[in-house]
Amino acid sequence: LLSPDGSIRSTIFAEMSALASATGAINLGQGFPDEDGPAEILDAARQAISDGLNQYPPGLGMPVLRDAIAAHQKRFYGLEVDADREVLVTAGATEALAATLLALVDDGDEVVTLEPFYDAYGAVIALARGIHRTVPLRLPAFLPDHDELRAAVTDRTRVILINNPHNPTGTVLPRETLELIVDLAHKHDAIIVTDEVYEHLTFGVQHVPVATLPGARERTVTISSGGKTFNTTGWKIGWLTAPHEIVTAILAVKQFLTFVNGAPFQPAIAVGLGLPDEFFEHIARTLQSKRDILSAGLAKAGFDIFTPQAGYFVVADAAPLGYPDVATLCRQLPELAGVVGIPISAFCTEQLGREYASLVRFAYCKKVEVLERASAQLGRLG
Ligand code: PMP
Ligand code: GLN
Repeated sequence: LLSPDGSIRSTIFAEMSALASATGAINLGQGFPDEDGPAEILDAARQAISDGLNQYPPGLGMPVLRDAIAAHQKRFYGLEVDADREVLVTAGATEALAATLLALVDDGDEVVTLEPFYDAYGAVIALARGIHRTVPLRLPAFLPDHDELRAAVTDRTRVILINNPHNPTGTVLPRETLELIVDLAHKHDAIIVTDEVYEHLTFGVQHVPVATLPGARERTVTISSGGKTFNTTGWKIGWLTAPHEIVTAILAVKQFLTFVNGAPFQPAIAVGLGLPDEFFEHIARTLQSKRDILSAGLAKAGFDIFTPQAGYFVVADAAPLGYPDVATLCRQLPELAGVVGIPISAFCTEQLGREYASLVRFAYCKKVEVLERASAQLGRLG
């Protein structure tokens, strides 16, 4: 977590956003939208502040939000969740991940993740003193090889941590892979932790929460967040659902991380979770068209594109443009094209990072005119 000189190593997202601000480049690095979400939830947050919801909320989260989370799991996935015993509200998905791994992982326990992996996974596994094992997502479709998955999960595995839909690749895991994960978790008595923050941002494919599979629910912690669904990444309202005993263990950690969080934003996110189906369909459709605009721009500029099935990001290969190593290109990109992107190697161990050295992640959760301008500027690379 620290640099060799003892200073704090900043995250790749903070570093690349700082580069974008310093150079005035278009920031397609860190994934956050540049437009507000639905007026209903913004109004609900203002109203909550006016109504005086400005003090510590209950430890598990406000009942109105826990009820909305349980209702959401039922409405979209048919999952029955007890709002009083099986739901915990957290400071974003980030705290849900941290509290979960700190609660479940002891010194030397192994945690298996897919690779590339979201940066917090590696950091939090290290904080919990766990051992991180990874299963590569293989080209061309960024899918895990089932034999590699079988080999990675052993009796030493405490947690299988998946991210579905996946950041940075946009992969939606097929049902057969989820079934294998559930089988392996049973066989080796592991807990499944699933990060589903992009659950509503899928493009023509159905998101299947692993907790809906037979035999999964009793050993699964499902994590999500309002940030991506409602364009409120700065509110940091996340949550998890899990069997009661696991929620209790995680709450024991959470109470000493943040204690509680986000009082006036909790009822506002509850309003969001209750919006009609059309809202959820609309956000996915809008984002899909943004994916297509940026992908077409990148292809025209000479990149090879891996079309994502979900999420905020497209992975592009800069090798056809003559850049075998984008770690260097990404630092020059503001000057060359006035755009910031993130090297995929930032989500990888050294070994896979070398294999994926020419791959770069661009965010398309931006206004259409911004994507069009970025595309035109990237055209200068060719
Ligand atoms: N998991 C993944 C896969 C993410 O991409 C992100 C960031 N958006 C998070 C977790 C963190 O979510 P939050 O902002 O709710 O903490
Ligand atoms: N999840 C966002 C991304 O992948 C960034 C979150 C962060 O900056 N920690 O870009």
